[in-house]
Amino acid sequence: MTRTRTSRSWAVLAAVCAALMMSFGLAPQAGAAAAWPVLSNGSAGADVGTAQYLLRSHGHGIAPDGAFGAETANATRAFQASKGYAVDGVIGGETWPGLIVTVRQGSTGDAVAAAQTALNKHGYGLTVDGQFGPATTSAVTDFQNGQGLTADGIVGPDTWRSLVGEGGGGGGGSSLPIPRDTLGRGHYGAPHHDYPALDLPVGTGTPVYAVDSGVAHQINNARCGLGYEVVGDNGATYYYCHFSAHGAGSGVRVGAGTQLGLSGSTGNSTGPHLHLEIVAGGANRCPQPYLLAIYDGTTPPAVGSLPTGGCIE
Ligand SMILES: [Zn+2]
Repeated sequence: MTRTRTSRSWAVLAAVCAALMMSFGLAPQAGAAAAWPVLSNGSAGADVGTAQYLLRSHGHGIAPDGAFGAETANATRAFQASKGYAVDGVIGGETWPGLIVTVRQGSTGDAVAAAQTALNKHGYGLTVDGQFGPATTSAVTDFQNGQGLTADGIVGPDTWRSLVGEGGGGGGGSSLPIPRDTLGRGHYGAPHHDYPALDLPVGTGTPVYAVDSGVAHQINNARCGLGYEVVGDNGATYYYCHFSAHGAGSGVRVGAGTQLGLSGSTGNSTGPHLHLEIVAGGANRCPQPYLLAIYDGTTPPAVGSLPTGGCIE
């Protein structure tokens, strides 16, 4: 069944993957501390934008475009050389701790823009203006509360690592599945074509993020195309479908906001979009109330309380 949206003739996919709901049966690992992500040439998304702003704060005047190319790799090498680190152009566990800058209310500049970019990955919708005011403090405090961190409103090493890393702790803060500025609020409340799920009409190559923490397993089949099953720490299982590329490994821990890959139109799909399912208590649940709450910056309802009907066209 297809549907046309204003000014675009992409048609929302035909029936996708009601039969996906089988778990791989792997228990999530206990909540390890967040790990620094590894970024290199070809990486894209909010974490890259954050790293680029941080490189700028250290005097490397690159464009913060969220795409890790030759310019970012060169700036990374120059930064690594200046610090005496291994010079490989890869931003990982050695480079991140030197790159981050502690910022707090009253701070200004690119390091603040980096923190705002990182917070927006988690759905806070801040203006990235490099001015650390009350709205940024409020977002930091809320994020810290969700992560079980000391809620002091200061972005120091632990908060930085949770912002760009793998969430850690389980539960807590959730993330929109795509960059916040990609779609308006109404798209998160749109009904699905024939069973409880959500289709987000985003173009090929849009970063897709894990909504909640868990263990991610790659999918590659005729219905879902390239995608992920994430066995959530909260007991729900999430399905993300129709990617153009996997962006994480398989059987790996992800946090809320960890990039899973890039959107596309693989599998049973008639146009680029992200298909998202949430399965809890053995039933497909309506993702709409959950994602609208995340969009609004409020705590989403318990997955097991989400309705199993009322979100179908
Ligand atoms: Zn769908």
